[in-house]
Amino acid sequence: MVVKQSHSTVEKWFESIKVEVLKIDPVAFAENFLTIDGLPLRLGGGTGWKFLADVYRYVATKALGPEGKPVVCVKARQVGATTMAAALELYFCTSDLFGTSPQKPPIRILHCFPALSLVQKFAKDKLSTMIRTSKDNYIIKHALSHNEETGKRRMDVPDDTLTEKQFKNENKLWVDSSANDAQRLQGMSVDCIFYDEVQRMNQDDIGNSKRTLTAARYGPKGQGIQMYFGTPLQRGSDFYKMWEASDKRFYHLRCSACKEYFKLYEPGSDSWEEIWLYANIVKCPHCEHEQDKIEAVENGKWVPSQIVMSNGEEPQYIGFHFNQLLIPYFDKEAIIREKPGIHATNSERIWKNEILGEFYSGSELPMSEEEIYQYCRNINKRISYGVPSVSKNINPKVIVPYQSPTFMGIDWGGKNDDLNSTIGKSYSSVVIISADRSGVLQIENAFKLKDNSWNHKKAIVNEMYRRFNIMLTVADLGYGSDIVPELQREYGGRIIGCLNSGSLINPVKYDPEELRMIVNHHTILEEIFGNMRKSKVLFPWKSYEQIHWLIEHFCSMEKEQRTFQGRVITRYVKGTGPNDGLSAFMYAYLAYKFYLTQGFKVKNHQINAKSNGPILAYLPGI
Ligand SMILES: [Zn+2]
Repeated sequence: MVVKQSHSTVEKWFESIKVEVLKIDPVAFAENFLTIDGLPLRLGGGTGWKFLADVYRYVATKALGPEGKPVVCVKARQVGATTMAAALELYFCTSDLFGTSPQKPPIRILHCFPALSLVQKFAKDKLSTMIRTSKDNYIIKHALSHNEETGKRRMDVPDDTLTEKQFKNENKLWVDSSANDAQRLQGMSVDCIFYDEVQRMNQDDIGNSKRTLTAARYGPKGQGIQMYFGTPLQRGSDFYKMWEASDKRFYHLRCSACKEYFKLYEPGSDSWEEIWLYANIVKCPHCEHEQDKIEAVENGKWVPSQIVMSNGEEPQYIGFHFNQLLIPYFDKEAIIREKPGIHATNSERIWKNEILGEFYSGSELPMSEEEIYQYCRNINKRISYGVPSVSKNINPKVIVPYQSPTFMGIDWGGKNDDLNSTIGKSYSSVVIISADRSGVLQIENAFKLKDNSWNHKKAIVNEMYRRFNIMLTVADLGYGSDIVPELQREYGGRIIGCLNSGSLINPVKYDPEELRMIVNHHTILEEIFGNMRKSKVLFPWKSYEQIHWLIEHFCSMEKEQRTFQGRVITRYVKGTGPNDGLSAFMYAYLAYKFYLTQGFKVKNHQINAKSNGPILAYLPGI
């Protein structure tokens, strides 16, 4: 009896030593204490995730030291990079390796996104879940507010919020946005920043956010630990420049026969299709031995491909490139199915950016966030809420100052019936713009309706007319064939329905009998993107966080070019993200254009819009 007990004590003691040792390795830590949505997190030996496990270890050891360099990860979608960041953050905060001695001061970490909407999503869906589902409540027990003696919450410690977590030994984790010159981060002092979705950040915001690292206690002096990760977009972007200034590491597999290393993926080349034969079998390019891909990955290593940059200098960043080809649970056939032409909706750009993790060099994106930042910022303006009530007793003899006319565009929601839609329920979007005398369009407000009911839609339209004194509205008729005529009974020609047409000869037509216009969307979008690059469309940048969704919608389109009767025709098609906000803007733009051309008459139409057209008495000066 006694012997047995002491034996079990030794076992327990040995087990606890083992656990302590495992905590030092971030990969072992993640496997032992964390889960992904309650499922085991497996990265270690034999899983085929060694390429990612090595990045975990690099950040937890090398990047931490005084000689460390900022790390840039250029990655495809779904390769577990955000999970890696969350796991590393919890490792730093709860492994008992930090904040336990004067040589190991507490660590303060910031997980940074380009906008608050992404902060909320990550904090709610990813981080909170990972904390809640840790094994035996490991993370919760390491929270500063956890009382070890009673097992209950300490009352002398403030509550953690969704985006601010305090742990034992004074280790801290924040999740926040770097938008608007990193205003929200002012006064913060941290040791480590994880930049997430970095392809959508601009250099000014990154530069300003780095000031929080001035007094960093880990990483190089004054620099701290910096890790940047994102999915690439176009060449020439800020993210592209960071990657180009890195040592560009690619993962090399190792042949089990000749022991040579070889790349599975060569950037810009299709050679991987010959190395990867089928299913999970790869062929060594040195000795032609056919072998299991997972095993070859497990024996592989990262190799830098740029030791010296073209200007003779040492790279400023450590760069890791990994794409979906390395994901162990994908076989070759699964990757091939993602190719444009085979996959129903994947464009060349999606294939390059999101599957291969390559910067796209083909014809440029229709519009990028960087271009909006460059050409379309009104840094002095917030979104406007209009005037709650307009007095009806204005003396008509009093001359009122010039007021920019306002226009509204509405894209009705309910497109969730679309079988191809993977974004779930879509809501109606509204954009309100004003136009100054020189034709510069200012976005005054933009929002999504939270409710698709008839009454709610009508109430919002009424409220917008009241607040903004809307001159003219254009609304989608395709999904609004019921509500638009109803609104026209009230507002007459101040609301015009809009239908799509493929006509190139007559891109805009107006039918005064039906109070509707028929428009070629591709032509109008091309015109809008062109105007944006001439700074003719301005976003209220002081309200960046509230309009970030709209910016995303503007940048979600894909470009398709083909030749028709000797002419190059550009078509704009929906990309992976939603675009309702852009559609709503397009309708507002059409309302402005209609007003400006007096019902498209200036374009010498066959349709006479004189009699039933919208009330053009609103034209200033008439
Ligand atoms: Zn070989």
